[in-house]
Amino acid sequence: MELPATVKLVAVSKFHPFESIVQAYEAGQRVFAESRPQEFLAKIKALVALREEMVLRAKEEGGDAEAARCYMSDIEWHFIGHLQTNKLKMVLPYVSLVQSVDSVRLLDAVDAWGRANGKVMDILLECHVSAEDSKQGFSRMELAGLLDGWHGRDFVRVRGVMGMATFTDDESVVRSDFAKLADMADIVRAAFPGHDCHEISMGMSGDYRIAVEMGSTMVRIGSMIFGERV
Ligand SMILES: *Cc1c(COP(=O)(O)O)cnc(C)c1O
Repeated sequence: MELPATVKLVAVSKFHPFESIVQAYEAGQRVFAESRPQEFLAKIKALVALREEMVLRAKEEGGDAEAARCYMSDIEWHFIGHLQTNKLKMVLPYVSLVQSVDSVRLLDAVDAWGRANGKVMDILLECHVSAEDSKQGFSRMELAGLLDGWHGRDFVRVRGVMGMATFTDDESVVRSDFAKLADMADIVRAAFPGHDCHEISMGMSGDYRIAVEMGSTMVRIGSMIFGERV
C-alpha cells in the first residue's frame, strides 16, 4: 500500500492473534492499534511472556539477553475502541495515544487517571461525522461546547481528531464525511495553539485513499494488513 510520507500507518490488530502482531513487527511495522481492553491486555501479557522466554533462551545459548528483554519495546500502541472509565487501568499504562475519546466523561476520567499516575495522556477527540447513529463521538455542536468550556485538564494533551465515514459505496458521501472531520480538526487545532494538535485520524481499509486525499495524517488499517477478522 502506498502512503505519502506524511501519513502514519496504524496497523489495527484487533481480533487477530498476537503472532500476527509479531509477524507485522518483523516486517517493519511499529504502530499498532487495539479496540478492546481485555484483548489488548492479553496481547501485552503475551508480549511479556515472549520476552521472558527469549531471555531464558538467550541465557542458555549465550545470546543477547538485554536485547531479548527489550524485544518489541519500540512499538507504539494506540487505543481506538470504546473505552469505559472503569477499564482505564487496563489500557492507559501501555498506550501512547487514545484515539477514541468520545465523551466529556471519558475525557475527565483520562485526565484524572493521568493526574493520579503522573502521565500526560495524548488523545484524539473522536468526532461523529457519518450518517450512522451507532457511531460514537462528538457532534460539531458538542465539540464547540466542550472547547468553549475547556478548563484545566493538565493531564490530557489533545493531538487532534479521529472519525469514521459512513459505510457506503457512495464515494461522494465518504468524501463529504471526511471534509466535515477535517473542518472539525481545524476547530480543535485553533483551540489548542500552544501544542502540536495536527492529527486527523481518518481512513480504514475500504476508504483510506479518499481519506489521504482529504488530508488524513493517520490511517487505521486492519483487514488489508491482517486479512478478514474472525
Ligand atoms: C476496526 C477498525 C479499523 C480498521 O478497519 P479495517 O476496515 O479492517 O481496516 C479502523 N478504525 C476503527 C475505529 C476500527 O474499529
